[in-house]
Amino acid sequence: MTEHIARGPWYRKLHWQIFLGMASGIVAGWIGGEAFADRVEWLGRIFVTLLKMIIVPLVITSIVTGVGSVGGGLGLGRMFGKTLGYYVLSSLLSILVGLFLVNLIRPGVGASLTGADAQELPQLETPSSVTELLLGMVPKNIIDAAGSSDMLGVILFCILLGAAIASLPESPRRTLLGVFSAGFEAMMKMTGWIIRLAPIGVFGLIAKVVGSSGFEAFRALGLYMATIAIGLSIHLFITLPLLLLFLGKINPKIHFRNMLEPLTMAFSTSSSGATLPVTLRTVEHKVGVSNRVSSFVLPMGATINMDGTALYECAGVLFIAQVLGAELSLLQQGVVVFTALLASIGAAAVPSAGLVIIFLVLESVNLRGPEVELIVGTMLAIDRPLDMYRTAVNVFSDSCGAAIIARSEGEEGVDTE
Ligand code: ASP
Repeated sequence: MTEHIARGPWYRKLHWQIFLGMASGIVAGWIGGEAFADRVEWLGRIFVTLLKMIIVPLVITSIVTGVGSVGGGLGLGRMFGKTLGYYVLSSLLSILVGLFLVNLIRPGVGASLTGADAQELPQLETPSSVTELLLGMVPKNIIDAAGSSDMLGVILFCILLGAAIASLPESPRRTLLGVFSAGFEAMMKMTGWIIRLAPIGVFGLIAKVVGSSGFEAFRALGLYMATIAIGLSIHLFITLPLLLLFLGKINPKIHFRNMLEPLTMAFSTSSSGATLPVTLRTVEHKVGVSNRVSSFVLPMGATINMDGTALYECAGVLFIAQVLGAELSLLQQGVVVFTALLASIGAAAVPSAGLVIIFLVLESVNLRGPEVELIVGTMLAIDRPLDMYRTAVNVFSDSCGAAIIARSEGEEGVDTE
């Protein structure tokens, strides 16, 4: 069902209001500095907390409804295959762009990181090896997993629950699916209410980012930042639109226009998890993808499909190797590509997760020690704008996946004018 686009003057439209919130946040943060930023930060925080509040019930109701209506067996297998196929393809393309650019521009060669402020790394729980990553997907206790926002665990459980419901006899199946899909509708309704607050929330978030950024580190890492930004732009504006066009026969311009709200939201929250409620709502109501596809593809995408993060992992590790003067062989670069893909799957959908999980990829080519930590700490000082951009790319790739898969399932009315 496509949403009735609000008519009337431009300033009544939500995405313009969000842009306005963003622009005034930049100006206010710049002029008011850190003191002002600290005073308005709570506006952003409460907005993100409201979004986070509904993520667990939203993911549970959405995946169970999605899998339940796809059915178990062949239908589920096919959808699963397409979804994973798209995720791996788009992430790999993104990583290859990063790999190519870092080898071409070589931003780490001769980069001087002395004088740039290093920062303390946030304490995020990230797997330290690939086996741990795989083991971590199975939750010991589902309530515990939901309570600690262990999304991979919750998703795995919900896929199994959805498949189990789909294989029940008619009467209990209908009852259970009815409950979950009604719950999903209610979550969507709440999302709609929370998004109305987005312009104010975005104002607080952006004012905080602008008001509290130091510029020394930005100068030292300018070339590196430019390399990542170019890579992300190629993926966002060339690769993904080509996938939309060729795999889904979808006009990328229309898809971009429909996705403005989630994109601005991803950009200002730096969290694809917090953006998920908005992504789900938009992909269903504006892009026009069925609930059956979007509620299966998007929650999983927000958790494991992170093209921007994947590019960042690969480019970041090669950059660090260049700074240390450790040239990586072709084989080692291959290992980086593979581990970057896994790291992007394992990275949590929260701010800075991509930077913290970079240690997993560094470890795969034996880069470790205090010097490496210092460089990563310095990268953290300039991470926010890169995080904002890679999160927007992460979210956009999920929505492209949902649109392409919906088309491949024979859905009409996806991204029509
Ligand atoms: N912030 C990103 C996200 O939520 C993850 C990352 O840090 O790369 O999608």
